[in-house]
Amino acid sequence: MRDWAEQQRKAGRTIAVVPTMGALHAGHESLMEQARHSADTVVVTLFVNPMQFDRAEDFTSYPRPEDEDLHICARHGVDVVYAPSASAMYPPGFDTRVEPGQLAEAFEGAHRPGHFTGVATVVTKLLTSVQPHVALFGEKDAQQLAIVRRIVSDLDLGVNIVGMPTVREADGLALSSRNRRLDAAARAAAVCIPQALDTARTALIQADQPWPEVQAAAHAHFATEPLAHLEYFDLVDPQDFAALAERDPHQNALLIAAVWVGGVRLIDNQPIPATGG
Ligand code: AMP
Repeated sequence: MRDWAEQQRKAGRTIAVVPTMGALHAGHESLMEQARHSADTVVVTLFVNPMQFDRAEDFTSYPRPEDEDLHICARHGVDVVYAPSASAMYPPGFDTRVEPGQLAEAFEGAHRPGHFTGVATVVTKLLTSVQPHVALFGEKDAQQLAIVRRIVSDLDLGVNIVGMPTVREADGLALSSRNRRLDAAARAAAVCIPQALDTARTALIQADQPWPEVQAAAHAHFATEPLAHLEYFDLVDPQDFAALAERDPHQNALLIAAVWVGGVRLIDNQPIPATGG
Protein backbone atom coordinates (compact mmCIF):
# COMPACT_ATOMS: atom_id res chain seq x y z
CA MET A 1 0.00 0.00 0.00
CA ARG A 2 2.74 2.41 0.97
CA ASP A 3 4.75 1.69 -2.21
CA TRP A 4 1.74 2.64 -4.33
CA ALA A 5 1.14 5.77 -2.24
CA GLU A 6 4.79 6.83 -2.56
CA GLN A 7 4.62 6.40 -6.35
CA GLN A 8 1.52 8.61 -6.53
CA ARG A 9 3.14 11.27 -4.39
CA LYS A 10 6.34 11.18 -6.47
CA ALA A 11 4.24 11.64 -9.62
CA GLY A 12 2.63 14.69 -8.01
CA ARG A 13 -0.79 13.07 -7.57
CA THR A 14 -2.88 13.65 -4.46
CA ILE A 15 -4.58 10.82 -2.54
CA ALA A 16 -7.96 10.75 -0.78
CA VAL A 17 -8.90 7.85 1.48
CA VAL A 18 -12.27 6.60 2.73
CA PRO A 19 -11.73 4.22 5.66
CA THR A 20 -14.60 1.73 6.07
CA MET A 21 -15.50 -1.63 7.56
CA GLY A 22 -17.23 -2.64 4.32
CA ALA A 23 -20.88 -3.63 3.84
CA LEU A 24 -20.93 -0.45 1.80
CA HIS A 25 -24.07 1.66 1.47
CA ALA A 26 -25.06 5.08 0.12
CA GLY A 27 -23.44 6.78 3.14
CA HIS A 28 -20.06 5.31 2.17
CA GLU A 29 -20.79 6.13 -1.48
CA SER A 30 -21.26 9.82 -0.68
CA LEU A 31 -17.82 9.79 0.97
CA MET A 32 -16.34 8.13 -2.16
CA GLU A 33 -17.94 10.74 -4.42
CA GLN A 34 -16.58 13.58 -2.30
CA ALA A 35 -13.17 11.84 -2.30
CA ARG A 36 -13.17 11.92 -6.11
CA HIS A 37 -13.57 15.70 -5.98
CA SER A 38 -10.96 16.09 -3.25
CA ALA A 39 -7.91 14.41 -4.82
CA ASP A 40 -6.47 12.84 -7.98
CA THR A 41 -6.70 9.26 -6.68
CA VAL A 42 -9.10 7.52 -4.30
CA VAL A 43 -8.36 4.68 -1.89
CA VAL A 44 -11.12 2.84 -0.02
CA THR A 45 -10.04 0.69 2.90
CA LEU A 46 -12.14 -2.32 3.87
CA PHE A 47 -11.20 -3.71 7.26
CA VAL A 48 -13.48 -5.08 9.97
CA ASN A 49 -11.18 -4.08 12.79
CA PRO A 50 -11.32 -6.67 15.60
CA MET A 51 -9.68 -4.25 18.05
CA GLN A 52 -12.61 -1.83 18.04
CA PHE A 53 -15.35 -4.38 18.81
CA ASP A 54 -16.29 -4.58 22.48
CA ARG A 55 -18.62 -7.56 21.92
CA ALA A 56 -17.42 -10.72 20.17
CA GLU A 57 -20.93 -11.41 18.84
CA ASP A 58 -21.04 -8.00 17.10
CA PHE A 59 -17.69 -8.75 15.41
CA THR A 60 -18.65 -12.23 14.18
CA SER A 61 -22.09 -11.15 12.93
CA TYR A 62 -20.78 -7.97 11.23
CA PRO A 63 -21.77 -8.25 7.51
CA ARG A 64 -18.90 -8.90 5.05
CA PRO A 65 -20.28 -8.85 1.47
CA GLU A 66 -16.84 -8.45 -0.12
CA ASP A 67 -17.78 -9.00 -3.80
CA GLU A 68 -20.64 -6.52 -3.55
CA ASP A 69 -18.29 -4.02 -1.89
CA LEU A 70 -15.73 -4.37 -4.70
CA HIS A 71 -18.44 -3.73 -7.30
CA ILE A 72 -19.54 -0.58 -5.51
CA CYS A 73 -15.93 0.68 -5.36
CA ALA A 74 -15.47 -0.07 -9.08
CA ARG A 75 -18.69 1.79 -9.91
CA HIS A 76 -17.33 4.87 -8.15
CA GLY A 77 -13.99 4.73 -9.95
CA VAL A 78 -12.03 3.93 -6.80
CA ASP A 79 -8.35 3.46 -7.75
CA VAL A 80 -7.32 1.13 -4.94
CA VAL A 81 -9.20 -1.01 -2.45
CA TYR A 82 -6.96 -1.75 0.52
CA ALA A 83 -8.36 -4.74 2.41
CA PRO A 84 -5.65 -6.05 4.72
CA SER A 85 -6.14 -9.23 6.74
CA ALA A 86 -6.34 -9.07 10.53
CA SER A 87 -3.04 -10.96 10.74
CA ALA A 88 -1.35 -8.40 8.48
CA MET A 89 -2.64 -5.54 10.63
CA TYR A 90 -1.98 -7.28 13.96
CA PRO A 91 0.80 -9.84 13.48
CA PRO A 92 2.04 -11.90 16.43
CA GLY A 93 3.83 -9.62 18.88
CA PHE A 94 1.74 -6.54 18.02
CA ASP A 95 1.88 -4.53 21.23
CA THR A 96 1.12 -0.85 20.58
CA ARG A 97 -2.09 1.14 21.07
CA VAL A 98 -3.05 4.71 20.22
CA GLU A 99 -4.95 5.88 23.31
CA PRO A 100 -7.26 8.86 22.77
CA GLY A 101 -7.82 11.11 25.80
CA GLN A 102 -10.81 12.86 27.34
CA LEU A 103 -12.81 13.01 24.10
CA ALA A 104 -13.10 9.23 24.18
CA GLU A 105 -14.28 8.93 27.79
CA ALA A 106 -18.05 9.52 27.65
CA PHE A 107 -20.92 8.20 25.53
CA GLU A 108 -19.56 5.70 22.96
CA GLY A 109 -16.33 5.44 24.95
CA ALA A 110 -18.17 4.74 28.21
CA HIS A 111 -20.62 2.26 26.69
CA ARG A 112 -18.08 0.44 24.53
CA PRO A 113 -14.89 -0.09 26.57
CA GLY A 114 -11.79 -0.10 24.36
CA HIS A 115 -13.74 0.87 21.24
CA PHE A 116 -12.02 4.21 20.60
CA THR A 117 -8.57 2.80 21.37
CA GLY A 118 -9.23 0.29 18.57
CA VAL A 119 -10.50 3.03 16.26
CA ALA A 120 -7.57 5.35 17.03
CA THR A 121 -5.02 2.58 16.53
CA VAL A 122 -6.44 1.36 13.23
CA VAL A 123 -7.03 4.85 11.81
CA THR A 124 -3.45 5.81 12.65
CA LYS A 125 -2.16 2.63 10.97
CA LEU A 126 -4.35 3.15 7.89
CA LEU A 127 -3.34 6.80 7.49
CA THR A 128 0.31 5.82 7.86
CA SER A 129 0.00 3.12 5.18
CA VAL A 130 -2.13 5.05 2.68
CA GLN A 131 -0.29 8.38 3.15
CA PRO A 132 -3.35 10.37 2.03
CA HIS A 133 -3.66 14.11 1.64
CA VAL A 134 -7.35 13.94 2.55
CA ALA A 135 -9.41 11.45 4.59
CA LEU A 136 -13.21 11.45 4.60
CA PHE A 137 -15.35 10.43 7.57
CA GLY A 138 -19.09 10.54 8.27
CA GLU A 139 -20.70 12.93 10.73
CA LYS A 140 -22.95 10.03 11.71
CA ASP A 141 -20.09 8.81 13.90
CA ALA A 142 -19.64 12.28 15.36
CA GLN A 143 -17.57 11.36 18.41
CA GLN A 144 -15.29 9.23 16.23
CA LEU A 145 -14.86 12.16 13.81
CA ALA A 146 -13.93 14.51 16.68
CA ILE A 147 -11.40 11.96 17.99
CA VAL A 148 -9.86 11.44 14.52
CA ARG A 149 -9.43 15.22 14.12
CA ARG A 150 -7.74 15.33 17.55
CA ILE A 151 -5.37 12.44 16.71
CA VAL A 152 -4.34 13.94 13.37
CA SER A 153 -3.66 17.27 15.07
CA ASP A 154 -1.94 15.83 18.17
CA LEU A 155 0.24 13.35 16.25
CA ASP A 156 1.06 15.77 13.38
CA LEU A 157 -0.23 13.33 10.78
CA GLY A 158 -0.70 16.11 8.22
CA VAL A 159 -3.95 14.79 6.72
CA ASN A 160 -6.91 17.02 5.92
CA ILE A 161 -9.94 15.45 7.67
CA VAL A 162 -13.26 16.09 5.94
CA GLY A 163 -16.58 15.34 7.69
CA MET A 164 -19.59 14.46 5.53
CA PRO A 165 -23.31 14.79 6.38
CA THR A 166 -25.31 11.71 7.37
CA VAL A 167 -27.12 9.95 4.51
CA ARG A 168 -30.58 8.68 5.53
CA GLU A 169 -33.32 6.35 4.34
CA ALA A 170 -36.57 7.95 3.13
CA ASP A 171 -38.08 7.58 6.63
CA GLY A 172 -35.08 9.28 8.25
CA LEU A 173 -33.18 6.25 9.57
CA ALA A 174 -29.43 6.87 9.21
CA LEU A 175 -27.82 4.35 6.85
CA SER A 176 -25.61 1.89 8.70
CA SER A 177 -24.08 -1.47 7.85
CA ARG A 178 -25.77 -2.77 11.01
CA ASN A 179 -29.24 -1.95 9.57
CA ARG A 180 -28.87 -5.19 7.56
CA ARG A 181 -29.24 -7.08 10.82
CA LEU A 182 -32.64 -5.54 11.67
CA ASP A 183 -35.62 -7.81 11.02
CA ALA A 184 -38.77 -6.23 9.55
CA ALA A 185 -40.28 -5.37 12.93
CA ALA A 186 -37.03 -3.89 14.25
CA ARG A 187 -36.50 -1.95 11.02
CA ALA A 188 -39.98 -0.41 11.42
CA ALA A 189 -39.30 0.39 15.08
CA ALA A 190 -35.88 1.97 14.34
CA VAL A 191 -37.58 5.03 12.85
CA CYS A 192 -38.18 6.11 16.47
CA ILE A 193 -34.52 7.28 16.54
CA PRO A 194 -34.65 9.98 13.81
CA GLN A 195 -38.17 10.89 14.97
CA ALA A 196 -36.99 11.52 18.53
CA LEU A 197 -34.01 13.54 17.28
CA ASP A 198 -36.19 15.66 14.95
CA THR A 199 -38.82 16.27 17.62
CA ALA A 200 -36.13 17.28 20.11
CA ARG A 201 -34.47 19.59 17.61
CA THR A 202 -37.73 21.36 16.85
CA ALA A 203 -38.55 21.67 20.55
CA LEU A 204 -35.13 23.20 21.26
CA ILE A 205 -34.83 25.52 18.28
CA GLN A 206 -38.38 26.52 17.42
CA ALA A 207 -40.22 26.12 20.72
CA ASP A 208 -37.26 27.17 22.89
CA GLN A 209 -38.18 24.41 25.35
CA PRO A 210 -35.74 23.75 28.23
CA TRP A 211 -33.40 20.82 27.55
CA PRO A 212 -34.39 18.74 30.63
CA GLU A 213 -38.01 18.77 29.40
CA VAL A 214 -36.97 17.87 25.86
CA GLN A 215 -34.80 15.02 27.13
CA ALA A 216 -37.60 13.68 29.36
CA ALA A 217 -40.00 13.75 26.38
CA ALA A 218 -37.47 11.80 24.28
CA HIS A 219 -37.09 9.17 27.03
CA ALA A 220 -40.89 8.88 27.15
CA HIS A 221 -41.01 8.50 23.35
CA PHE A 222 -38.56 5.57 23.43
CA ALA A 223 -40.48 3.97 26.32
CA THR A 224 -43.52 3.64 24.02
CA GLU A 225 -41.52 1.52 21.52
CA PRO A 226 -41.24 -2.01 22.95
CA LEU A 227 -38.48 -3.09 20.53
CA ALA A 228 -36.26 -0.11 21.42
CA HIS A 229 -34.04 0.24 24.45
CA LEU A 230 -32.47 3.67 24.90
CA GLU A 231 -28.85 3.79 26.04
CA TYR A 232 -28.38 7.56 25.98
CA PHE A 233 -30.00 10.68 24.53
CA ASP A 234 -27.92 13.74 25.33
CA LEU A 235 -27.06 17.27 24.30
CA VAL A 236 -23.30 17.88 24.02
CA ASP A 237 -20.72 20.43 23.03
CA PRO A 238 -19.63 19.20 19.56
CA GLN A 239 -16.00 20.19 20.24
CA ASP A 240 -15.32 18.24 23.44
CA PHE A 241 -18.44 16.05 23.85
CA ALA A 242 -19.10 17.50 27.32
CA ALA A 243 -22.76 17.01 28.27
CA LEU A 244 -24.73 20.26 28.35
CA ALA A 245 -27.24 20.89 31.15
CA GLU A 246 -29.04 23.50 29.04
CA ARG A 247 -29.01 24.75 25.48
CA ASP A 248 -27.25 28.07 24.87
CA PRO A 249 -28.69 29.56 21.64
CA HIS A 250 -25.35 31.33 21.05
CA GLN A 251 -23.43 28.04 20.92
CA ASN A 252 -23.56 25.14 18.48
CA ALA A 253 -24.66 21.93 20.15
CA LEU A 254 -25.19 18.32 19.11
CA LEU A 255 -27.96 15.90 20.04
CA ILE A 256 -26.60 12.36 20.26
CA ALA A 257 -28.41 9.05 20.73
CA ALA A 258 -27.56 5.37 21.10
CA VAL A 259 -30.43 2.90 21.00
CA TRP A 260 -30.73 -0.88 20.93
CA VAL A 261 -33.40 -1.96 18.46
CA GLY A 262 -34.23 -5.66 18.23
CA GLY A 263 -30.76 -6.63 19.46
CA VAL A 264 -28.85 -4.22 17.19
CA ARG A 265 -27.13 -1.15 18.62
CA LEU A 266 -27.63 1.99 16.49
CA ILE A 267 -26.28 5.53 16.93
CA ASP A 268 -27.39 8.79 15.39
CA ASN A 269 -27.14 12.53 16.00
CA GLN A 270 -28.57 15.86 14.97
CA PRO A 271 -26.75 19.21 15.01
CA ILE A 272 -28.41 22.04 16.97
CA PRO A 273 -26.86 25.13 15.43
CA ALA A 274 -26.57 28.41 17.29
CA THR A 275 -29.56 30.61 16.50
CA GLY A 276 -28.63 33.66 18.59
CA GLY A 277 -31.43 35.51 20.35
P1 AMP B 1 -18.10 2.17 8.88
O1 AMP B 1 -17.92 1.27 7.70
O2 AMP B 1 -19.39 2.01 9.59
O3 AMP B 1 -16.89 2.14 9.80
O4 AMP B 1 -18.15 3.63 8.29
C1 AMP B 1 -17.14 4.12 7.44
C2 AMP B 1 -17.31 5.61 7.30
O5 AMP B 1 -18.59 5.88 6.70
C3 AMP B 1 -17.27 6.34 8.63
O6 AMP B 1 -16.55 7.55 8.49
C4 AMP B 1 -18.72 6.59 8.91
O7 AMP B 1 -18.96 7.71 9.74
C5 AMP B 1 -19.27 6.81 7.52
N1 AMP B 1 -20.72 6.56 7.49
C6 AMP B 1 -21.38 5.51 8.02
N2 AMP B 1 -22.71 5.65 7.87
C7 AMP B 1 -22.90 6.83 7.22
C8 AMP B 1 -24.06 7.57 6.78
N3 AMP B 1 -25.29 7.09 6.95
N4 AMP B 1 -23.86 8.74 6.14
C9 AMP B 1 -22.61 9.24 5.95
N5 AMP B 1 -21.48 8.60 6.36
C10 AMP B 1 -21.62 7.42 6.98
